[in-house]
Amino acid sequence: MSSFKYSDVYRIVYPRRHEGIYKNRGDNPWVSIRIRQGVGRDPSKWFSNQLRVIAEVSRVYGDGRAMLGTRGGDIEIFKVDFRLFDEVVAKLKEVGLDPRDSCGNSVRNPIPCASQFCPYAHVNAEALSTFIGDYFRYRSEYEQPSLPHRIKISISACERACAVPVAQDIGIVAKPNGKFDIYLGGGVGEHAFSAKLAFVDVDAEDLLPICVGVAEVFRRSGERRGGFKWVVKLRGLDKVKEEVMAIAREVKPKLPKPPDLAPRFVKSRIVKVPYPTGWVTADELVKLADVAERYGFGYVLLFNNQSVYIPVHEGVSRIEELSNYEVRDPGSMYPEGPITVACLGNELCPPGLIDTTGLGRKIHVHLSNFNEPIRVGISGCTHDCGMSWVSDIGLEPFGSKIGY
Ligand code: SF4
Ligand code: SF4
Repeated sequence: MSSFKYSDVYRIVYPRRHEGIYKNRGDNPWVSIRIRQGVGRDPSKWFSNQLRVIAEVSRVYGDGRAMLGTRGGDIEIFKVDFRLFDEVVAKLKEVGLDPRDSCGNSVRNPIPCASQFCPYAHVNAEALSTFIGDYFRYRSEYEQPSLPHRIKISISACERACAVPVAQDIGIVAKPNGKFDIYLGGGVGEHAFSAKLAFVDVDAEDLLPICVGVAEVFRRSGERRGGFKWVVKLRGLDKVKEEVMAIAREVKPKLPKPPDLAPRFVKSRIVKVPYPTGWVTADELVKLADVAERYGFGYVLLFNNQSVYIPVHEGVSRIEELSNYEVRDPGSMYPEGPITVACLGNELCPPGLIDTTGLGRKIHVHLSNFNEPIRVGISGCTHDCGMSWVSDIGLEPFGSKIGY
């Protein structure tokens, strides 16, 4: 193991980050693989056969664990030998999974709220996010090295805005009048910016052109420091809006039209299984797959709180394998709690300063009997992957002596 130097492996995998690979901490051959759904698939919907394959590759190639992403729409596996990355990706692709564009400089997964089981939804957020995400997939102009930083998009199907538009580069929010508001320039990290309301009452067919406009403005800016939020900050919102709209108008005739976005409500009940700090064992993944098949529709949903939502048939009131969890009628994602969300931290993440998992578990013990909607977010460094900035209580280390 010690014959592998961190810097040597890093140099090899770094140029491929947008393919979903990044180096784990230390002098070893290990990398993480951040898995997202393949082209044409709802990014929030994970089928039982996919969960079984992730469990299997995690056992065979990794350390038998996986982590639910803090942003939603991805599952990571760890401690994979970097030389086996392509082999693992081939296995994932057999079941419609594809890590590409989940890491590095790329247009990341557009995260939808779970509009399929929320009675407040004005649109089908999952269909919209699939449509927008598919456009950007595998386009070299929107991957590194052409794109200077990542772009994050989320879609909330109503004004309750569960998909946290203020923390995104592009936050799309559906309105009761059939149109959309768009927020631009948000982002977490050392310099956290709240996205600003940029476009009001946008038609569905203008959403993709505006997203392409943002990506183009950003690509041409070459702003590498901290992403699109800095372009908005430095140029000002009005200037950026003008630039985005000029490109949007130009590209619109060449772009695909959105699909039918009428809400598609799936009659179901739901069981939420939280995984405080995000870790799931391979055995747990298999259990979730079994439950989804036995009681539900053969899939689970992921969102931005390291919880798994399993839609089950309407007659189900108790699940034997998950007897500690309530089966409830569908509703809004928030407010719900308590929940403790944590990033990878210093066990495996190179910049990590603290043990986010250990801290999160200690905190969650005290929260778990507290039936109030509170979210604790823990990040291992100022990059804030634990979304501490948008949590009710956010913890993030700073400085050489590690204060919080
Ligand atoms: S309440 Fe939340 S989950 Fe429901 S439609 Fe609105 S944003 Fe989506
Ligand atoms: S916040 Fe820091 S420690 Fe946590 S996953 Fe991000 S880069 Fe790693």
